[in-house]
Amino acid sequence: MKFPTERQYPKTIKVRNTHYKIKFVNQIGKDKLTVGLCTSDPPTITLRRRGNRQKVFETMCHELLHAIEFEHRAKVKHKLIYLFAKAITKIIRDNFV
Ligand SMILES: [Zn+2]
Repeated sequence: MKFPTERQYPKTIKVRNTHYKIKFVNQIGKDKLTVGLCTSDPPTITLRRRGNRQKVFETMCHELLHAIEFEHRAKVKHKLIYLFAKAITKIIRDNFV
């Protein structure tokens, strides 16, 4: 098993009681550097297609952490979001993938 390809991602991911739509795009807004985005209204996680599978997965983890912030009304320092996303991805890679 490897990190999932785009078509292996679910169409939605339920976070607490909200179903976040998972959307893949070639570019996010005008910014060519943005790799992911999470909005609560509408609940959507947007991921940029480019980049290797592990990086896209890490971005999804990052955006899911933002979704958790929204759904649990918890604010986490952005630096920690990066750290957790990387750490979770590494745990998945070293134990599941
Ligand atoms: Zn972020």
